[in-house]
Amino acid sequence: MKERILRQIERGTLEREEIRFLLETHNKDIQEALRKKAWDLCQENYGDSIFIRGLVEFSNYCKQTCYYCGINGKNSEIQRFRLPVEEVLSACEYGYNKGFRTFVLQGGEDPSLEDDYFISIIKSIKKSFPDTRITLSLGVRSYESLKKLKEAGADRYLLRHEAANEELFGKLHPKNQSFEERRKTLYHLKDLGFVVGSGFMIGAPFQTIENILEDFDFLQELQPQMIGVGPFIHHKDTIFHGEGNGDLELSLKVVSILRILFPQALIPSTTALNSIHPQGRILGMLHGANVVMPNLSPEKAKQNYSLYDNKAIQNLEAAAYIHELDEEFMKIGKKIKIDVGDPIDGKRG
Ligand code: SAH
Repeated sequence: MKERILRQIERGTLEREEIRFLLETHNKDIQEALRKKAWDLCQENYGDSIFIRGLVEFSNYCKQTCYYCGINGKNSEIQRFRLPVEEVLSACEYGYNKGFRTFVLQGGEDPSLEDDYFISIIKSIKKSFPDTRITLSLGVRSYESLKKLKEAGADRYLLRHEAANEELFGKLHPKNQSFEERRKTLYHLKDLGFVVGSGFMIGAPFQTIENILEDFDFLQELQPQMIGVGPFIHHKDTIFHGEGNGDLELSLKVVSILRILFPQALIPSTTALNSIHPQGRILGMLHGANVVMPNLSPEKAKQNYSLYDNKAIQNLEAAAYIHELDEEFMKIGKKIKIDVGDPIDGKRG
């Protein structure tokens, strides 16, 4: 098996059963071959460039009650915040001056924020900084709302499918959150011409290796241009507070397999990865990731956008340290590219 799997990794053609084997194996030679292939494919497609996205967490109010998430609407322990339009814009201006050319607006599903709030942010950013891209991460929204946001000038949308297996999805979310609706929204986003990102957590409660294979199947069907994955990390105020965190080794293997299955995808080395290991960010890059999303949020937002315990918000996670971040990447032969960082499938992001 070892020789065969090494050959398949080298060819970059992984069948479902081989992927299962890779997810299960602890063999170091195989893991290193997998990592090396992912690194090489990333170099072939993106060279030594790392793309940066400035993350602005605009609100932690949320009407949803995802069981794993610290900002879920039922958590009465956290301090809620909502940034006025001007604060979002000044965070973006600060980011622009630091070299960011993509802004990611992420938040809970805040019922008080209507389309107009986002439309005015999108239009202002595009007016002040036409050479930028705007990514939204607002959860599930209606086709009509998404259409308006696209027309206002939004370019990309991140919506992790969270779990491709319906039963698992149902164990991670309350009944009122529909598996079908989340998937349908992803297809709406594609129809509307958004550059689409999806993904899932690794090591979420109840998740099996078979479930991860199903996540890969779903991603192959959807063909998103961006794929975000990171370890599940428990949050003290959720029903999963006693659960173990996702595993670093498995998370890194998933990143490498994704790079092999989707050689041209934009794959971030996520904050969650960096939150479970001090070298998480760099390890993600070494395993095939090519994007980082430093935090541009004002301090009160950063402190309270607590999706999980011990979320990394210090130092190099902050957009202010982009120079230091670049120095860290240089040590592994990569460098930050000041660019919108569109996908390379020819489509404008
Ligand atoms: N409301 C938006 C943004 C959600 S937060 C939406 O619904 O898409 C962004 C991502 O953080 C989620 O998609 C989820 O995969 C991840 N996340 C949430 N809680 C987490 C946890 N406890 N551990 C790891 N990742 C988590």
